[in-house]
Amino acid sequence: MQKVTFAKGDGIGPEIMDATMRILKAAGARIDWEEIQVGEEVYLSGNTTGIDKSAWDSIRKNKVFLKAPITTPQGGGYKSLNVTMRKSLGLYANVRPCNSFHPFVKTKHPEMDVVVIRENEEDLYAGIEHQQTDEVVQCLKLITRPGCEKIIRYAFEYAKLYNRKKVSCFTKDNIMKHTDGLFHKVFKEIAQEYPDIESENWIIDIGAARLADTPEIFDVVVMPNLYGDVVSDITAQISGSVGLAGSSNIGESCAMFEAIHGSAPDIAGQNKANPSGLLRGAVMMLNHIGQQDVAEKIINAWSCAIEEGIHTADIYKEDVSRKLVGTREFAYAVIERIGQKPKKIKPEVFLKDVKLNLPTYKRRPKATKVLKGVDVFVDWDGGKVDELAMKLKNLESDIKLSMITNRGVKVWPEGFDETFCTDHWRCRFEVENGHPANKESIPDVLSKALTEGIDVIKTENLYEFDGVRGYSLGQGQ
Ligand code: NAD
Repeated sequence: MQKVTFAKGDGIGPEIMDATMRILKAAGARIDWEEIQVGEEVYLSGNTTGIDKSAWDSIRKNKVFLKAPITTPQGGGYKSLNVTMRKSLGLYANVRPCNSFHPFVKTKHPEMDVVVIRENEEDLYAGIEHQQTDEVVQCLKLITRPGCEKIIRYAFEYAKLYNRKKVSCFTKDNIMKHTDGLFHKVFKEIAQEYPDIESENWIIDIGAARLADTPEIFDVVVMPNLYGDVVSDITAQISGSVGLAGSSNIGESCAMFEAIHGSAPDIAGQNKANPSGLLRGAVMMLNHIGQQDVAEKIINAWSCAIEEGIHTADIYKEDVSRKLVGTREFAYAVIERIGQKPKKIKPEVFLKDVKLNLPTYKRRPKATKVLKGVDVFVDWDGGKVDELAMKLKNLESDIKLSMITNRGVKVWPEGFDETFCTDHWRCRFEVENGHPANKESIPDVLSKALTEGIDVIKTENLYEFDGVRGYSLGQGQ
């Protein structure tokens, strides 16, 4: 018996969890369930995290968690519990297989069989946001080398274990040269360790367009968090329905399994939801806990029901479906077929007693880090940029004012009158002679700014790492 924590979630959560658990029980899953409360009820009881300590204790003790979707109340004050759980438990790999079931489920893409592997802890999902001036808010995009190495290695190990031929990486490093640039660089490094697996990089915009148009040319696709969130919903939807795809969130000690979709409040309580996403998440869980025999039985029975045209409303189409059923009836149809094998749908591969080879991250030797200057961000709506530059000149020491940008584009020296400016200015002070900057120069700039009445809202230090510039140029610089 394996102890597993579960949560029924919100919206359609209780209905699809009930259907899923009935099927698991009928198939003989050897699980001792432990229920926890998370989500809307907990949020609205005044706990803005959406989860209490006893629930955390259960997940951390059992290490395996089956979760129905939860509703994040709209508006300020509530952080997404999904994001909190993935990050707090170190669930760095989000695996989302999306394949079509042609001709049984209508899709424009009969050949698709894509696994989206989404980085699950970093990127803009750090959720570090600030308003800094009347006009400007910002969100910090954090990409780390350990984060990139772990998820990219996971993608290649997954491809190797499941005999997949190609890993594609999606980034936007033509624009974000340091953050997405690091992801791409690490991808190229790790790809070299897997010469038998084809590797390629796509700029996310055209990559996503091609994935939506010709998914059959993709196999395993790996990408940073936000892109993965968007792209995996698209991938699931074009396979037939967002209600079909399950997902696993894998960490070094815990794992969480769920459907990829949300709590669908528009159809909650109506016995309309497709339980397949959560069921297929549960099948991934059975595989994870070594109950491949049960996983296989369930997926075979599920495939039989799908092949026979027993469909919930989201995938029901008159020309391919035979019977429109509700959530409960679909579960009964799957249960009735336990022990049967599908005639056409390709059986899923479950590998027993094998694990992905994922070494723990080894920190590299520290680089030589040299201070070259500072970007001083200023709240200012006082007029022409030349006036701001004149004031800033008074702050110089060994670091000199080299540029002012507004929303990233250079406006001094030699800016254009046409450039629209907000009240948020990035003022770059750099050494001119290539020597390291004095550490004292930065507090010196700040204290002179105070005397000059300049409203500094934040600073970013400018470094070189082993002689390589660790900051971007201004647009137009
Ligand atoms: P959603 O995925 O809940 O619904 C989008 C559309 O897909 C709706 O029309 C819905 O009816 C349909 N749909 C979703 N699942 C279905 C299923 N199983 N069967 C049939 N149709 C289905 O997305 P949303 O409406 O943007 O989000 C609703 C809530 O869910 C929000 O509070 C959001 O924060 C939350 N959410 C939670 C998770 C999670 O728990 N992992 C993921 C995404 C969104």
